Amino acid sequence: MFCYQCEQTAGGTGCTVRGVCGKEEDINSLQDTLIYGLKGVAAYAHHAREFGARDEAVDAFMHEALFKTLTNVSFDLDQHLGMVLKCGEMNLRIMELLDRVHVENFGSPVPTQVDTGTKKGPGILVTGHDLLHLHELLKQTEGTGINIYTHGEMLPAHGYPELKKFKHLVGNYGGAWQEQRKEFQEFSGAILITTNCVMIPAQGTYAERMFTSGVAGVPGVKHIEGTDFSALIKKAKSLPPLSDSPGKKIMTGFHHTAILGLADKIVGAVKAGKISRFYLIGGCDGAKPGRNYYTEFAERVPKDGVILTLACGKYRFNKLDFGAIDGIPRLIDIGQCNNAYSAIQVALALSKAFNCSVNDLPISFILSWFEQKAVAILLTLLSLGIKGIRIGPSLPAFISPNVLKVLQEKFDLKPVTTAEKDLADILKNA
Ligand code: SF4
Repeated sequence: MFCYQCEQTAGGTGCTVRGVCGKEEDINSLQDTLIYGLKGVAAYAHHAREFGARDEAVDAFMHEALFKTLTNVSFDLDQHLGMVLKCGEMNLRIMELLDRVHVENFGSPVPTQVDTGTKKGPGILVTGHDLLHLHELLKQTEGTGINIYTHGEMLPAHGYPELKKFKHLVGNYGGAWQEQRKEFQEFSGAILITTNCVMIPAQGTYAERMFTSGVAGVPGVKHIEGTDFSALIKKAKSLPPLSDSPGKKIMTGFHHTAILGLADKIVGAVKAGKISRFYLIGGCDGAKPGRNYYTEFAERVPKDGVILTLACGKYRFNKLDFGAIDGIPRLIDIGQCNNAYSAIQVALALSKAFNCSVNDLPISFILSWFEQKAVAILLTLLSLGIKGIRIGPSLPAFISPNVLKVLQEKFDLKPVTTAEKDLADILKNA
């Protein structure tokens, strides 16, 4: 790890001021955490700005926070920890703004059943997180005979009234981002990547029928400036049509307004002892071994437990049948990673209904992290004072042992162990 003070490897033989600052590794760790969190905030701010919305307080914080990472600007650990938590607060603000513009433009999501197979005819598979680009593509392909499929984090799009009204938005194909190489090769139509997480296609595979838009970019792949998708549409028409092959049906679209519509039922089921606990199992997915922890955990959740999920980590278990409790689905897909805002609204509403703090609710947070938005969301949860979050499959390398110790002392942050052990621990302390 690089030390900003003496411009050497922190604590290495060339470290000239270790005896003076003594804390360079921890300052670096908090500064790195802040930078990762800011990247996540920037992604959400960019999406909101595409709709013409911005938050002056978030913009000002980003400037201050980046300034705070300059060389020799502050050696105060508490100050840095404060900035990291403030990053979480700002992330909540920007997720709220993004939710607002999505709802204003596309309506409030409603629970929606989505087919995971294919339909006869030409198709375009859309991945990433940019609902605005998906909407533009739906408008431009209406009446052309081309079917549109969502991939990865685009799945929640099916729940928005102004997107689901397009009859040619026909289904969700594949799983999380790390399956792209296999799934994109199998999908015979054209492919649009709107944001991260994109994988570079293997040589000689699907690159010639893949397009990027917005912030995404891949060498050798055509990039669409703005939202004129005519080149993509032309390509889709030239490719062999997909076949009629219905798949399993999955549910999405449980925005907080939809869940809170069931609030009386949910509170009643908890009071009657039919629901014992909620488990928020979600976050980013990835290819690293050990991520089957989340599938195993979801499978082990007791029959009177309800799983809330979001982001692409849900593909580890969202095709399993969890059934329902008194008409309340046991698997509730809240949406994209930015819909962590909705999950927070649900937790706050439950704490109000039960007249207790979120930490006293029967709810456990089991999060997976991979990239920077997940870091921003974790900081948001910490900034709200939520304790006992389990995080995995491994801890971020930029968290130093001392910073981890502080987070464990202050927030009881726990690295995941095994699904069996962690669930037993939760139930023992319930
Ligand atoms: S949830 Fe995270 S890992 Fe998954 S596609 Fe979104 S940003 Fe990437």
